[in-house]
Amino acid sequence: MTQPALHDMGVAQLAAALRAKEVSAVEAAQHFLARAQAQQALGAFVAIDENATLAQARAQDALLAAGNAPALAGVPIAHKDIFVTRDFPTTAASKMLAGYRSPFDATVVAKLADAGCVTLGKLNCDEFAMGGANENSAIAPVGFDAPQPVRNPWDTARVPGGSSGGSAAAVAARLAPAVTGTDTGGSIRQPASFCGITGIKPTYGRASRYGMIAFASSLDQAGPMARSAEDCALLLSHMCGPDPLRDSTSLDRPAEDFSRSLHQRLDGLRIGIPAEFFGDGLHADVRAAVDAALKEYEKLGARLVPITLPRTALAVPVYYILAPAEASSNLSRFDGVRYGHRAAQYTDLLDMYKKTRAEGFGDEVKRRIMIGTYVLSEGYYDAYYLQAQKIRRLIADDFQAAFAQCDLIAGPVAPTVAPQIGAQTDPVANYLADIYTLPASLAGLPGLSLPCGQGAAGLPVGLQLIGNYFDEARLLGAAHQFQCATDWHQRRPEGI
Ligand code: GLN
Repeated sequence: MTQPALHDMGVAQLAAALRAKEVSAVEAAQHFLARAQAQQALGAFVAIDENATLAQARAQDALLAAGNAPALAGVPIAHKDIFVTRDFPTTAASKMLAGYRSPFDATVVAKLADAGCVTLGKLNCDEFAMGGANENSAIAPVGFDAPQPVRNPWDTARVPGGSSGGSAAAVAARLAPAVTGTDTGGSIRQPASFCGITGIKPTYGRASRYGMIAFASSLDQAGPMARSAEDCALLLSHMCGPDPLRDSTSLDRPAEDFSRSLHQRLDGLRIGIPAEFFGDGLHADVRAAVDAALKEYEKLGARLVPITLPRTALAVPVYYILAPAEASSNLSRFDGVRYGHRAAQYTDLLDMYKKTRAEGFGDEVKRRIMIGTYVLSEGYYDAYYLQAQKIRRLIADDFQAAFAQCDLIAGPVAPTVAPQIGAQTDPVANYLADIYTLPASLAGLPGLSLPCGQGAAGLPVGLQLIGNYFDEARLLGAAHQFQCATDWHQRRPEGI
């Protein structure tokens, strides 16, 4: 039997080939690095260092030769440039951190390295993970002299989604079998949807946030992105676990095998369909693909249950108060003293702060710092911040009421397929497009996006599955069963 090309293998298959010594870790790394170089025009990578990657690969080859290699020994992956890494620069796609090198690895990066993964490089994203199109990166991708929007491999005139746009583009173009992303309000699910791949944001607190550059700490979560739910499950199993000394919000739940429910049949599974996710804003092409996917779930034995999440529309104003509030506080550490950029010329300390921050941050980041500072200021705190916190609780309560009637919730990820680059210039319109991903983020629930069809111009459409707390294995199982019955996740962009 002829083996598929390395870049067409899933994570498990690649790990098995490495273990069987059909391919070495160095060869696998070289294969993917060559692909990344050939596809530089996508702008997916912001840092590649062949020597660093090959050193990691050689170390895995030594473990493989000695017969005591970890589960994913030699599997090449890449990290969103929001995770700090010792072997590669870390920028959060901001001028503020250009040239920064962390003295340590983020916990998620360290855990995946312990599992044997080899890092191919760092992936482009929106500056400090703020955005939904990856048009907000302030760092020149590998092969470019100036910042560029990341391009969607399905149509290079379109965005890949964001903020984990480089991550999604890299998987869709088969530049890595799997990658990491982060999701604060949808940044794993939405780019996964736009690029026709699978991604999961676990329950808030599952994965340590240590070394993940903070945007909105009460929302930020790390998760895997790959072609299939099966691959996401494998990676996620190595990313989670308590980290009490370094992230006090990491949960005291041991690492789990998230692959354990992959083969469970869906007979009798109750899938809640929230009326509010199918309102006027949802484009007809996306709706048709989502409806067809829900029919497929019925064929697989699931039952569709109409439910309601009555405060869905409030998720947008609530998120766009709370996330900027937390961002304004988190980003105050970038003051020109401790990290990264410092203005070259200034008169006194205050002038140094002002010039450093004016030069170092991009427009969207400044917009959020200003909104956040405003809603936290005296006189507005009660009217905005506190109100938003209260509604956040009610949104979480709505989910608990819904989960009394269903096991999972399904709906669209985004109202449209991937838009054209440069088409969306109104920040408020961009914020509104997050409507379907924000509720689960505010509630801290796990959410997954899987490719479920094609919309306008043949572009991928994602189906979102939301689970109750700690129900990642069930989400991944439901996604896997769909992927056993359909081939949307195996389709590839032309020329890839
Ligand atoms: N699009 C949302 C925002 O701009 C979500 C970003 C994210 O999840 N990091 O804030």
